Amino acid sequence: MLNQKEIYYKALLEKDESYVGVFYAGVKTTSVFCIATCRARKPKFENVEFFSSFKSALDAGYRPCKICRPTENAAPGEIIKAISLISNNPKNKITDYQLRQNQLSPEIIRRWFKKHYGITFHAYQRMYRINNAFQELKSGKNVINTAMDSGYNSLSGFGYTYKKIMKKSPSTSNQQDIILIDRFTTPLGPMFVCATSLGVCLLEFVDRRMLETEFEQLQSLLKMKIIFGENEHIKQTKVQIAEYFKGTRKDFTIALHTPGTLFQQTVWDCLKQIPYGELTTYKKQAQKINKPQAIRAVASANGYNRVAIIIPCHRVIGTNGELIGYGGGLERKKWLIEHENRIIKSDTHSN
Ligand SMILES: [Zn+2]
Repeated sequence: MLNQKEIYYKALLEKDESYVGVFYAGVKTTSVFCIATCRARKPKFENVEFFSSFKSALDAGYRPCKICRPTENAAPGEIIKAISLISNNPKNKITDYQLRQNQLSPEIIRRWFKKHYGITFHAYQRMYRINNAFQELKSGKNVINTAMDSGYNSLSGFGYTYKKIMKKSPSTSNQQDIILIDRFTTPLGPMFVCATSLGVCLLEFVDRRMLETEFEQLQSLLKMKIIFGENEHIKQTKVQIAEYFKGTRKDFTIALHTPGTLFQQTVWDCLKQIPYGELTTYKKQAQKINKPQAIRAVASANGYNRVAIIIPCHRVIGTNGELIGYGGGLERKKWLIEHENRIIKSDTHSN
């Protein structure tokens, strides 16, 4: 009997059309994902992982294959045109305005992506850019290639950082003036973690809408560039976040380096004091920092928190008990609240 992976692998080798859309094959060695019928040379069994949805392949950091074009398979002409706008301008944002200029309807395109891939066109674009940039950072190609690539002046992904890194030889850029970035997986999906030599400055789910803005802000606030790598703070974060998800960790002992205004710092400090498994409201948080009128400002500063989970903004809910806004998505917020609840309950039972 073949197991699921073997069945899919066989279909991949045989270019079995009936599996198109059933799985997406991520090739670990190239970070590209394909559909069953791809004409490209087939990867070794151990180098493939299979995804049941298009989004999960993107979430895992894979980019659509340029040969089989998994995005365009069975897509209407309009969609193919929109996708080619992205692949021809991989470093720029394609706006609704630009879609209209190309006689494309942003509404139709958004709906088609939602229906067929479970994400919006803009979310797809963002993942495409970020995955591209991250893979380039990872391969180290960026330092040389991008200096010749004027497209990297645009404020997209991590791209705009490359030119300045170029001016320094890699040997002179030390841990002091760079932000390191890495990616790891959690039960709620993959996350990016960034850290300087002083501490962690970002921890976010890879599909967070504000991600590129956060990268830009971090780089400008810290006057540092993002490059791929790992330091002690990043290693510690991976360990402690894994323990958090297992339910064995309730408090973090991770150094943070979170630039922001004085007000934001106050709000974030206040967030860190909310105990594990407890919920509070923006109103109570505003009272706690002696700014009872500043409820909206507190909510906004919460929204600017770039260190998910460790600075537990998921523990803040609306005054009426509703789960309002969460950068990582409301489903994740709900999951985190329930997770902490479950752990607290099982603790009381075992005591
Ligand atoms: Zn392919």
